[in-house]
Amino acid sequence: MAYRDEKLEEEKVFKDPVHRYVHVRDRVIWDLIGSREFQRLRRVKQLGTTYLTFHGAEHSRFNHSLGVYEIVRRILENFRDREHWNEEERLLCLCAALLHDLGHGPFSHSFEKVFKLDHEDFTQEILLGDTEVNRILTHVEEGFPKKVADVINKTYSDKLVVSLISSQIDADRMDYLQRDAYFTGVSYGHFDMERILRVMRPMEDQVVIKESGMHAVEDYIMSRYQMYWQVYFHPVTRSAEVILSKILHRAKELYQNHYEFKLKPVHFLSFFEGSPTLKEYLALDENVVMYYFQTWMDEDDPILSDLCERFVNRRLFKYIEFNPNLQMNEWRELYELFREADLNPRYYLEVDSSSDLPYDFYRPGEEGERLPIHLLQPNKELKELSRLSDIVESISGKKRTDHKLYFPADELRRMPEDSEVKQRILGILYGKEEQ
Ligand code: CA
Repeated sequence: MAYRDEKLEEEKVFKDPVHRYVHVRDRVIWDLIGSREFQRLRRVKQLGTTYLTFHGAEHSRFNHSLGVYEIVRRILENFRDREHWNEEERLLCLCAALLHDLGHGPFSHSFEKVFKLDHEDFTQEILLGDTEVNRILTHVEEGFPKKVADVINKTYSDKLVVSLISSQIDADRMDYLQRDAYFTGVSYGHFDMERILRVMRPMEDQVVIKESGMHAVEDYIMSRYQMYWQVYFHPVTRSAEVILSKILHRAKELYQNHYEFKLKPVHFLSFFEGSPTLKEYLALDENVVMYYFQTWMDEDDPILSDLCERFVNRRLFKYIEFNPNLQMNEWRELYELFREADLNPRYYLEVDSSSDLPYDFYRPGEEGERLPIHLLQPNKELKELSRLSDIVESISGKKRTDHKLYFPADELRRMPEDSEVKQRILGILYGKEEQ
């Protein structure tokens, strides 16, 4: 029997807190899960620094990837024998679902910004390079790794296949919303996925939803909206993210200035130099990062050791609402005052902004163009979701942005009460609120 059609003698199941069970029958999927590149995802948390805000959020990208696979597996079971669906694409969809996050590194958000990397490039490299995953996929068929890479990269010719993994209602989002809600313990993020799966229909180039499932989709859109503001953009998580970025910047700067680290940061060197190879990239997971942070707490550089101590022991920065576009003068003044107070503003002062667009209708050619969700009406016509749903219409295309200023309130408190600099800093930070 061809490797692509091989089934395990007995179905394997993973117990899963969100989907109850994840079912594996294909030999290829089982082998991919066992590969070293996929196992690495156990050592990368799905939500990065969020565990410092919601202590339950320790789940990994491994959990999430299995979840996305399971959702796609269930969708395809419903699609079997339906018009427009080509059963030949089944294994391709399952592999793309399982492997879509393969290139995520430790604390992706900060790492990618500081070291100018892109996890999507690494996903492609793992799929196409010299890896166990590549060998398994090539065994299916010469050219199969490229097909999986194209689906994940959204360039695959069959857009229906692509839309299962990436669209405004795809298996990726449906898994992370529920999983992140479960592990953070918040009451948002729940919606009736079973119902949505039952009313999904394959069309030529996209997955559509039967109109009767509209309310389940509304619930899904709203839960995404709430999860963004309650969990993903939580200011405490962003504070941890700010400190994490500062640590990486500091370590890189020290390295460039030929600082003698007590423990040579071998795993970081290629990152500091700007172009880690795939092997170097994969060797740096979150366990390794945390090892360095704990070691750097004992470094002689006071900034590096303080920032690491803050991250490890959760002594985070405090924050206030602050819009740098409107408060340019305050920003300049604070920057100067921090310098006078001997708090290096490059490391102890930061403005961070988050924004989200909960759902968007189709705006061809615009930045971040997104394919809208289409509802299938009983007369077989398609209608864009926000034209039928008042709830979705009310948040469609509306971008919300939130700006905050982060600073070490504990350091300010420690300054003598009669310090003029301290009074002026506090005046700018809290002045308006006290009036
Ligand atoms: Ca994902």
